[in-house]
Amino acid sequence: MKSIKEVSFKGKKVLVRVDFNVPFNDQGKVSDDTRIVAALPTLKKLINDGAALILMSHLGRPKGGFEPKYSLAPVAENLSQHLGVKVGFEAEVLTEKVQNQLRNLKAGEVYLLENVRFFEGETKGDEALAKTLASFADAYVNDAFGSAHRRHTSTAVLADYFPNDKYLGYLMEYEVVNLERALKTRENPYTAVIGGAKVSSKIDIIRNLIPKVDNMIIGGGMSFTFIKAMGGAIGSSLYEEDKLDLAREIINEMMRAGVNLYLPFDVVAADKFDNAAQTQIVSADAIPEGWMGLDNGPKSTAKFAQVLMSSRMILWNGPMGVFEMDNFAQGTKAVAIAVAAAGVGGAFTAIGGGDSVAAINKYNLASMMSYVSTGGGAMLEYLEGKTLPGIEAILN
Ligand code: AMP
Repeated sequence: MKSIKEVSFKGKKVLVRVDFNVPFNDQGKVSDDTRIVAALPTLKKLINDGAALILMSHLGRPKGGFEPKYSLAPVAENLSQHLGVKVGFEAEVLTEKVQNQLRNLKAGEVYLLENVRFFEGETKGDEALAKTLASFADAYVNDAFGSAHRRHTSTAVLADYFPNDKYLGYLMEYEVVNLERALKTRENPYTAVIGGAKVSSKIDIIRNLIPKVDNMIIGGGMSFTFIKAMGGAIGSSLYEEDKLDLAREIINEMMRAGVNLYLPFDVVAADKFDNAAQTQIVSADAIPEGWMGLDNGPKSTAKFAQVLMSSRMILWNGPMGVFEMDNFAQGTKAVAIAVAAAGVGGAFTAIGGGDSVAAINKYNLASMMSYVSTGGGAMLEYLEGKTLPGIEAILN
């Protein structure tokens, strides 16, 4: 993999795909610029080299053509402040005026194109659009990991127009290097912790991880499909009737592969889906009728922490309970702390998925992890073993 670190972009015009899909407040200003800040290492490197930058990003899901509420104008303003240079921007799709500005861009200057999803053909991966965009630049850098699972013009197709000048940006490199480490290397014991609401959304990840890990901890709502599949009484806990056979198959697959499966054996059961519900700690396979498991119980939590703290590699995706409600957050919090402790003790720890990332941020543990993914859908597809078009387009 050729890193931008090893290349000088002096005197080049570079098309950079970034992920500036950020939220706005009521005044129409950027309310969380985490994604803009995350792109700065790549942008600063290119500017310091003496390149001229043409930035591309999507924002939301416009229906086709210009829609003011999806304009990147507030992003251009925010980015100008971060870079300390005025970022060129017009709230227009590739008009003659915009094209002139792109042609006249000088070294050190930065231009942000309007939302690429306003451009005809972007989401279809249109070649004509790619050709037009490519005509303004000498190189292409993709730093939008969150969009890498899409074969759009700006995220993948454009790369073909720069066969010798296409690169992953630093953020992409960070994701790819760490995901490859999580999937292709193994230090034992390797423990995967998979949680969240549904088996159906994580099934491909579980399957892809079975040959790679020693221990699989399955918690959260999805654990009840497994517990019921083994004959447990789960009360009114969440489960997927049509996935019971699949759960049995997966249990067998794990047994054949010699993977230790850890499911919660005690749970915090509630009489309703409410933080103020009545609760009791019960055996996970004997939940009374009308009660639902909303978090791992204390004994399971202690066992999981013990497994995690003696692991050398950990991959965590998905919460252990309804962690948004404080009374059902203990299982998730304990996993976050145990993963952090293992990491400080030298284990490689990879965290992905919006809820797991939200949990470690809530407990201020992000800096103690080896790797925290910035991508949602893209990271899930990577963990499922799928090839991501945005990454493949660069590496091939
Ligand atoms: P996912 O998007 O599949 O990772 O699921 C995350 C969601 O699962 C979170 O909003 C949790 O509140 C929810 N969740 C976790 N455990 C349970 C549970 N035992 N019952 C109901 N929902 C749960």
